[in-house]
Amino acid sequence: MKKLAIFILVPVLSFAQEKTIDPKLTEVWEPQPPKVVPATKYKAPSDAIVLFDGTNFDQWSGKNNTVSWALNPDGSMTVQPKTGGIKSKKEFGSIQLHLEWKSPIDIVGKKGQKRGNSGVFLQGRYEIQVLDNNNNTTYANGQVGSVYKQSIPLAMASVPTGEWNTYDIIYHQPKFNAQGTVVKKATVTVLHNGILVQDHFEIQGPTVFRGKPSYKAHGKGAIFLQDHGDLVSYRNIWVRELKD
Ligand code: MG
Repeated sequence: MKKLAIFILVPVLSFAQEKTIDPKLTEVWEPQPPKVVPATKYKAPSDAIVLFDGTNFDQWSGKNNTVSWALNPDGSMTVQPKTGGIKSKKEFGSIQLHLEWKSPIDIVGKKGQKRGNSGVFLQGRYEIQVLDNNNNTTYANGQVGSVYKQSIPLAMASVPTGEWNTYDIIYHQPKFNAQGTVVKKATVTVLHNGILVQDHFEIQGPTVFRGKPSYKAHGKGAIFLQDHGDLVSYRNIWVRELKD
């Protein structure tokens, strides 16, 4: 009987105590977050840096400072195979990045890593894979949405080949000490068509095709889009810079 009484008494007491705490004590009014007009289908958010809106390559450079990729009438661009990748002129630290990409519809004779391969390299070093994996299996840590050769995506979330995919990427750059040793690894979160495919993954070092990655100290870096020989298209690319 006594035990029961204690059990009843404790919640009643703590509830009564809670009632005496002023709820205003836990209200935080400053700073108020800045107002941002969200993105619509054709327009970046109001505070974003637009890197590609379909009208020109002003924000990009390629081999010999020339962009040889195709600028299409529908407001997209397409890899021009063998001309090399392109990189943003502006360099970034930690960012939120939005872009849209499309795999080429012609898949005859193309499989594995040779179908619709491109990639988004954060700070020019860390690749989020772009690949057409519709009915096309490859090594899981190299498929679409992977941190290439480092992290298998949580899902394969591609739309049908030839339709537009979205990537929304939250990237925090690594930190290095004065000796150039990494003291905080880079992290990346990726939404592919709104589906979480990388959940705050700790990047192990710059993307390498062979062997294990290892960090080398660096500062800000460009966003690099890969020419892997396939006619992958991109559109609507914008960035919001983040605090580290
Ligand atoms: Mg690639």
